[in-house]
Amino acid sequence: ALQGQGVEAPTAPMTTSERLGVSKIRLESQLREALAARGLELGLQPLMDVDSGRIAGYEALVRWHHPERGPISPAEFVALAEETSLIVPVGEYVMDAACESVARLVEAGHGQPFVAVNVSARQLSHPGLVERIVARADAARLPRGTLKLEITESQVLDYDLVGEVIALCHAHGIKVALDDFGTGYSHLAHLHRLDFDVLKVDQAFSRNMVADPRAMAVVEAIVQLGRALQAEIVVEGVETRPQLEALRRLGCHYAQGYLIGRPRTLAQILADPVPGRFGG
Ligand code: C2E
Ligand code: MG
Ligand code: MG
Ligand code: MG
Repeated sequence: ALQGQGVEAPTAPMTTSERLGVSKIRLESQLREALAARGLELGLQPLMDVDSGRIAGYEALVRWHHPERGPISPAEFVALAEETSLIVPVGEYVMDAACESVARLVEAGHGQPFVAVNVSARQLSHPGLVERIVARADAARLPRGTLKLEITESQVLDYDLVGEVIALCHAHGIKVALDDFGTGYSHLAHLHRLDFDVLKVDQAFSRNMVADPRAMAVVEAIVQLGRALQAEIVVEGVETRPQLEALRRLGCHYAQGYLIGRPRTLAQILADPVPGRFGG
């Protein structure tokens, strides 16, 4: 649901430990164990170049297979990892696995896909983040321009800090995406302060765009805003062909969603690459 509409404070979502009925401390220690035992996995979700219909890159999405409770969504455990500082080692695991996965895809003849990795605000304030990312990308021999960091818009509280991180990324040739654009509290008045390369439009906008002309008008306006700011536009949550066709008409650059492909493991992608089915 959209947050931050109107004057009401958003209600606090249920925490992971509340939902699972285990203590936060126990869950935290289980996450720590999972991390040490490589019990976290990466899902890679394809992004399609809307014009060519080709898969241009992937977003890395972390997965936790809890021994007793099965898969736990990152929407839940990332919040827990952010409360503790576990998000820093979790983020490093994701960065390593993402770089390594792309290197494997390149080896297997998948061209040179980009990879987008989510980073939490908590990681941004951790010194040396960008330098460590650069070292990993170089070790995996990824061209730096194929690495994109996704920063969630609603997590941007300190514009100076995020601005510095973006400048540092650019100095090293890494791109930055503003994720979940338009949800959470509106930062439109401050948008010009962030020199991001990619605007990711949240699925809350694409969901109704085909059925509701007003929703379509909003997506169109965001695409134009992105273009005016010289950013690439990614629209998330693309689940139907009519949505994809509308995005093609609007001149959106990349589409991401279940229509294009669900997040899959590297092994799944290597076994069944899903060739460009949506040729433009
Ligand atoms: P996000 O970065 O906005 O990622 C997109 C989310 O939308 C993913 O959920 C993805 O599986 C889901 N999605 C993709 N296409 C569709 C679609 O067509 N329909 C619907 N209904 N959903 C779709 P996921 O994997 O559960 O991740 C949730 C959030 O958790 C992410 O949102 C991101 O903010 C965070 N997250 C995921 N991995 C990481 C990570 O490694 N580090 C950090 N800090 N956060 C992460
Ligand atoms: Mg993201
Ligand atoms: Mg997003
Ligand atoms: Mg989202």
